[in-house]
Amino acid sequence: MSDTNSNGGSGNGSGAQIELRNVTKRYAGQKIAAVDNVNLTIPAGEIVMFVGPSGCGKTTTMRMINRLIEPTDGEILIGGEDVRKKDPNELRRHIGYVIQAGGLFPHMTVADNIALVPKMLGWTASKIAERVREMLALVGLEPGQFANRYPRQLSGGQQQRVGVARALAADPPVLLMDEPFGAVDPITRAHLQDELLSLQDELSKTIVFVTHDFDEAVKLGDRIVILAEGSKIVQYDEPGAILANPADDFVRGFIGEGGAMKLLNVTRLADIELANVASAGPGDTAAQVLEKVNNSEVPWAVVLDDSKRPVRWITAETLAEIDGPIGDHSNADNGDHNAQITISGRSTVQEALEALLKADQNVVPVTVRRRYVGSVTLNVVQNAINQLRDKAKAGGRK
Ligand code: ADP
Ligand code: MG
Repeated sequence: MSDTNSNGGSGNGSGAQIELRNVTKRYAGQKIAAVDNVNLTIPAGEIVMFVGPSGCGKTTTMRMINRLIEPTDGEILIGGEDVRKKDPNELRRHIGYVIQAGGLFPHMTVADNIALVPKMLGWTASKIAERVREMLALVGLEPGQFANRYPRQLSGGQQQRVGVARALAADPPVLLMDEPFGAVDPITRAHLQDELLSLQDELSKTIVFVTHDFDEAVKLGDRIVILAEGSKIVQYDEPGAILANPADDFVRGFIGEGGAMKLLNVTRLADIELANVASAGPGDTAAQVLEKVNNSEVPWAVVLDDSKRPVRWITAETLAEIDGPIGDHSNADNGDHNAQITISGRSTVQEALEALLKADQNVVPVTVRRRYVGSVTLNVVQNAINQLRDKAKAGGRK
């Protein structure tokens, strides 16, 4: 085979687009189709979450992608190629598949489970052994400790990690994950979710992930598909857009209580408009800074060091007392104080809200690579919510 060792390395190959065109599955003896004329494009390199009630056709839809189930009608394309034109076994070697509880073979060691597809692809023993070690390390399991264990000697979370390692072993462009973290406790699940996200940062696979947990969908998904009976697509959009503008009551039901808080949790400070707050360098004159303060939203300026890192806050009162450059002049009686609390632009608006509540004034400096980029206030949070709602409405849905 020509592709046996084309990309067995550290996973720099990115994912492939998946396209479902008028896909229908009707099981024998079923009155209504389990999957009814579905059209869906899953962009390369993204995590797309399928969310919907039990029995709505999520698993059926997913298993048609790797041909564990054959569609009754329609076409499925991966990277532009019709999956029906491929040998099903060959196809599955290039699609990772992870199911609940890992789906490991109980009579095989962890190493043998992970080596399964690389062996089928005819990799050499030494390359396989190296890959097994690499995969175990990637999912946070010490190779020396875990390679020769059997699945029953692992916790649920560890089995799930091995399941992910096995699915990734041959570096497939596509990963199908069917409620993979459903059987583990909430704390382990949160760890596994975090690990999947950091893996994805490195690997950029195309991941289709089924869950019935909307919060998991929001946390992991670049996009979410909300499915109803027959795999009918009720809404397909980015988590923020679904939270800001749910298509109907069915979607609202999935979002559950606290949709606005969840929206704050998926929106990053780098992506919203920050407050106009005066900033100053130590060499600026008090008069210059005071003029900026008078044109800003709050009666203070944030003083930055030479690398533009926030150092302290200076009030309009103190600025009025200074003649010439502000230097390190500070007057605690006026409320001047160190800028101890700052927040990264990568943080969510919800984290900013928490920082605001902790800070002793209603403004917190935001930094990107530790340089000051603007400030966050309660007003900023409110405006961000309004803008997200307007944007979601204007953008509509597919
Ligand atoms: P989900 O994963 O969303 O819970 P499934 O895809 O498993 O849903 O099932 C969709 C529908 O198809 C359900 O009504 C289910 O009972 C039916 N179904 C699933 N597998 C089979 C099968 N092998 N034979 C007949 N009906 C099936
Ligand atoms: Mg299912």
